[in-house]
Amino acid sequence: MFFQAIGIFASLITTFSSGHISTRDRSELSYETNLMLKNLETKYIPLPKGKVEVYVNRDNGIEEVEANELLEQDKKSFPNIELLAMPSNQYNCFSYAFIAPSKYNYFGFTKVHDFLTNPTKYGYFNVEYGDVKAGDKVVYYTKESAPMHAGIVEEILSPLISNSALNLSKLMLVSKWGNSGLYRHRGSDFSYSAKNTPYSLRFFRVDSSHWIHNYSNIILSYNESYHEKFCSCTKSIKEGHMVPAGSFEDNEYATCLICGDEVNKGIYVR
Ligand SMILES: [Zn+2]
Ligand SMILES: [Zn+2]
Repeated sequence: MFFQAIGIFASLITTFSSGHISTRDRSELSYETNLMLKNLETKYIPLPKGKVEVYVNRDNGIEEVEANELLEQDKKSFPNIELLAMPSNQYNCFSYAFIAPSKYNYFGFTKVHDFLTNPTKYGYFNVEYGDVKAGDKVVYYTKESAPMHAGIVEEILSPLISNSALNLSKLMLVSKWGNSGLYRHRGSDFSYSAKNTPYSLRFFRVDSSHWIHNYSNIILSYNESYHEKFCSCTKSIKEGHMVPAGSFEDNEYATCLICGDEVNKGIYVR
């Protein structure tokens, strides 16, 4: 409770005195500030246990010029980062790490305090730094214990010796940077402002009581041939679009019965 109160207090301070945050701040804060300007619909999405509230953001408000500027700044600061998907404000780091690791994600998961402070309530547990493995989720915290960024651990380059953020250089991550791109990067290659500096880390893994996957949780359109279905634990499967039998006899396109996309290829369902 005390921890949570501090976290909220700290995030209020930073949110409302954000005049010094540089345009290069890619932490959760820059994303959340941007979302607050929109009047978005919210929705509850299941985690392995319980549900969390997210913003539904179907339109990417980032113009191509702005997107290219963001990418240029990031690449200039961190030449070794690898771009996996273009800038978007449709999803944020927490949504990518804990809801649907896809560039087609359109959920903003910003109300993360309860989830991060009570992970077992949501079917997750905290992993000690010595036990971290690929696939675990990492959350960066500020000195005031405010969660500032989340990513998925892809590789442990050398053993972690503490929960200090100094260990970030030993981790290869995939994470979504605020309104900017989706990157594969060293944990220490990440853009933040002076007020929003990573100080410590916490690691999360889905509880082993979750072992039956249910892929009907979120369905995202993937490409003209496939859509991707996500379990509440973020595992996913890709499958061909499904259309009513005979759909392409008179029309080039049909609506996928599963993802709702207009498609020109699909499995006939009777
Ligand atoms: Zn699952
Ligand atoms: Zn589909």
